Amino acid sequence: MIIVLKPQATKRDADAILERIAAVGLRPLFLPGQERVVLGALGDERALEQLHLDSDPMVESVKPILAPYKLVGREIHPHDSIVPLGATQVGGGRFTVIAGPCAVESREQMMATAKAVAGSGARALRGGAYKPRTSPYSFQGLGAEGLAILREAADATGLPAVTEVLDVPDVATVEASVDGLQVGARNMHNYPLLRALGARRTPVLLKRGMAARVEDLLLAAEYILAEGNPNVILCERGITTFETATRNTLDLASVPWIKSRSHLPVLVDPSHGTGLRELVPPMAKAALACGADGLLVEVHCDPPRARSDGRQSLFPEQFDAMMRELRPIADAVGVEMT
Ligand code: PEP
Ligand code: MN
Repeated sequence: MIIVLKPQATKRDADAILERIAAVGLRPLFLPGQERVVLGALGDERALEQLHLDSDPMVESVKPILAPYKLVGREIHPHDSIVPLGATQVGGGRFTVIAGPCAVESREQMMATAKAVAGSGARALRGGAYKPRTSPYSFQGLGAEGLAILREAADATGLPAVTEVLDVPDVATVEASVDGLQVGARNMHNYPLLRALGARRTPVLLKRGMAARVEDLLLAAEYILAEGNPNVILCERGITTFETATRNTLDLASVPWIKSRSHLPVLVDPSHGTGLRELVPPMAKAALACGADGLLVEVHCDPPRARSDGRQSLFPEQFDAMMRELRPIADAVGVEMT
């Protein structure tokens, strides 16, 4: 429920109502706005009826939150969220590009790629140390060694680093090395992992599952926010359809759909979204034009030798050209490319 207080209501009035909300077993939320104080009550809304808040002299209106995703939706939080990622910020009118290899393969590979993408204007580094591969026989990542290399590359370039965490027991170790934790498409429905990340403060880059509806993605994000971590960045990375020309079907319509309903920033991953490097720049431009807050892009210093996802990885020169081509589009749509 959303409880809008009258303009004359004081902080003390708000606190008294919040206490009554907590006393009936609901989760109270204090949401101060520009003009009005708004309170929230999360949980079984029938419990609120006994408080008769609509007849409280300090309450202007009581209305239900219609969307199933309460904290992620704009009903309770109308303005865009800005998520900090190290010294970078994601969302709020900037277009943030996170780039790097699919997997950290060696110190030389990570350093060369990191320097190239930093020089072309990437604002954060990516690189997988623990890789969720479709086949158990494929390269699974360098693990702890990969994390250390990624950190070194991030420090050398001054960029924040993002990497995937696969499992709850790894969260603390992975978190100690990076600035943002990625939840991959295969783990979007891993509710224990989402809850564990929700109990922390490290920003989470949550990717859409390959067979997940956008509403499922928002509800997955709700798990993280409901545990107390507001720092969630969503990522559209394509879904499985009957189409086989591309690796996945990049659902760009999800971007404006989500952005009209949720305050969380939304990135687009045109690499996994298409599987083909020649389609990455055009889809990146389309992502910027349709309102995405940034990109997650795979770039490799030597794509033909990449141990994973070489076919969709950009050569550094292609990434550089793409970044230059994105700038006039950012100007046209009124977005800052930081
Ligand atoms: C990745 O970003 O490296 C990755 C594995 O992506 P996804 O989870 O979207 O398949
Ligand atoms: Mn990949």
